[in-house]
Amino acid sequence: MSNSSADFARVYKKFQAPISRKVDCGAKCAPYNEGIPVCCDHDRAVPVADKGEWDLLRKRTDLWSIYTPKNKTEEKEFGGLADGCQSIICKGAKFCERENRTIACRAFPFFPYFTKEKELFGLGYYWGFEGMCWVISNLTIVEKPFIDEMIAACEDIFKKDQDEYDTYVGYSATMRGVFTKKNRKIPLLGRDGKLYFALPDGGAIVPSAKADFTAKLAKFPKFK
Ligand code: SF4
Ligand code: SF4
Repeated sequence: MSNSSADFARVYKKFQAPISRKVDCGAKCAPYNEGIPVCCDHDRAVPVADKGEWDLLRKRTDLWSIYTPKNKTEEKEFGGLADGCQSIICKGAKFCERENRTIACRAFPFFPYFTKEKELFGLGYYWGFEGMCWVISNLTIVEKPFIDEMIAACEDIFKKDQDEYDTYVGYSATMRGVFTKKNRKIPLLGRDGKLYFALPDGGAIVPSAKADFTAKLAKFPKFK
């Protein structure tokens, strides 16, 4: 079973909170990226929409179009998407329509982080964007309404989409593997709004004081 366009319309309504009402994070990273917020730069990030989400967006707006892979690596990456999923690009940051952003846009740089026991603990982040996404280096600015809405949106989507659930269970395990290799703790935002680390090896999750948490965050800017 997968989510329909009506399901995505409901999720969109529930997931609107910004990461922070006080900070415009795009203004933090864009100056280092030719004026384009990193997560809106199609050379760096291409959102993928489920079939239901793409059906919804096509009905609501002409903001989005199908992305054509630029090279063989991308052909492989986007050619292997689950049935009906579509890589898409918008017209660019100047034309952003807040209500027609994908779930991927709303959630960036976060993904739902699962424990080894497959429990949805809170928010992990796409570590490949360390040094480029200012938010990743300033996780303590993330506000609780954003965390609540993102967790609720994910739980809603997972109810009908086992593949999506499995993807993030797997992605969380991959993050543990990557950080363990580097002997790093994973900074996590708990669904309770508090700060945590997942420790290397066993992946045990422990609470963190703000100062220690902040000291361990990736440095910004560090562009590749
Ligand atoms: S989420 Fe990260 S990459 Fe996107 S605009 Fe904010 S700081 Fe930049
Ligand atoms: S829809 Fe808006 S947030 Fe999403 S990639 Fe385009 S400009 Fe960025």
